[in-house]
Amino acid sequence: MIKPSEPSIPEHLAGAVLGINLDAIVGNYRTLCQNLDTVACAAVVKANAYGLGLEPVAMALAKAGCEIFFVAHIDEGIRLRRLLPDHQIHVLNGLMTGSESDFRSHCLIPVLGSLQEIRRWQQSCGSEPQPCDLHIDTGMLRLGLPPSELATIANDPSLLSGLDLQLVLSHLASADDAASVQNQQQLELFRQARQIIPTGRASFCNSSGIFLGADYHFDIARPGVALYGINPTPTRPNPMQAVVTLHARILQVREASPPAHVGYGASFAICQPSRVATAAIGYADGIPRALSNRSHGYIDGLKVPLIGRISMDLTTFDVSNTPAGVAVPGQWIELIGPNHSLEQLAQEADTISYEILTSLGRRYHRVYKGG
Ligand SMILES: *Cc1c(COP(=O)(O)O)cnc(C)c1O
Repeated sequence: MIKPSEPSIPEHLAGAVLGINLDAIVGNYRTLCQNLDTVACAAVVKANAYGLGLEPVAMALAKAGCEIFFVAHIDEGIRLRRLLPDHQIHVLNGLMTGSESDFRSHCLIPVLGSLQEIRRWQQSCGSEPQPCDLHIDTGMLRLGLPPSELATIANDPSLLSGLDLQLVLSHLASADDAASVQNQQQLELFRQARQIIPTGRASFCNSSGIFLGADYHFDIARPGVALYGINPTPTRPNPMQAVVTLHARILQVREASPPAHVGYGASFAICQPSRVATAAIGYADGIPRALSNRSHGYIDGLKVPLIGRISMDLTTFDVSNTPAGVAVPGQWIELIGPNHSLEQLAQEADTISYEILTSLGRRYHRVYKGG
């Protein structure tokens, strides 16, 4: 396995252990490929592979046959280029002014999103066209050519002359809601855009888009989150394997009887004789403070409620229902794992799994499996 570029704290010194199953990521990649039939499947590894480590994740996927990678920032592309000298690396955030020569020297493909970016790429490449992509905005109002600029190109196709256009792509806003009419509207707009710009290959769907059916597949799919085990079909059972586990270490266990309160702001009142375990994990490690008094962990499969406010480095649990000798210093509390999924944790924090993953902290001991 290729090591991540970020250091991992040794286990005996770490407050928490993050498990990342590379074999499950590869399994999920294969599942997505099966759902795509003969359509090529790229991998989105932006934001440090959704927090799981760019180098080990990308390497495992490359070994499994993935040939096309997407990152958000050019900096992520440069990091990935060191590892994968020959793979296609597309940079979704486009061509920032001043980055043109860096794209070329690292053989990275900018996803151009405006006439201005197109012009700058043409000018910087001169008479030697270099690969680039075009992003069409079909309804997100975020990145990509707006309808007005697409119309300008329709009237004057020579605006694209001298481009080595690899992909024409667009991004779905509501793919995780299969019933949303926005999916079909965007599909229709993307088809119109392809009539105006039929060059290169077409790429439309993210993880959830893959499950909207073959109409959405085009030439290349761009899944991210499903690779990392998140359910791309929220109203149906998860077709993906879980990838991540997170366990925090108990530092101390306290006996408490009323009247007493736990943590900052005394937000949890002890109402009966209890045992309170303090674990070495907090919001500085990416555990949302919104989980205060709203989540739970598991010790040896026994549910232990999260009580009191989450602090920067510590989180408290009511371990009164665990047998003597189980909740002790050094013992591990499962926060993400077979008993408590990443999605449950995200729901309890009123957020989405994407945000939990990409917030995972730097103070964990990281254990990679397989790859
Ligand atoms: C992040 C992103 C993806 C991957 O989306 P998932 O929902 O994680 O599968 C695909 N395309 C674009 C443009 C993105 O920004």
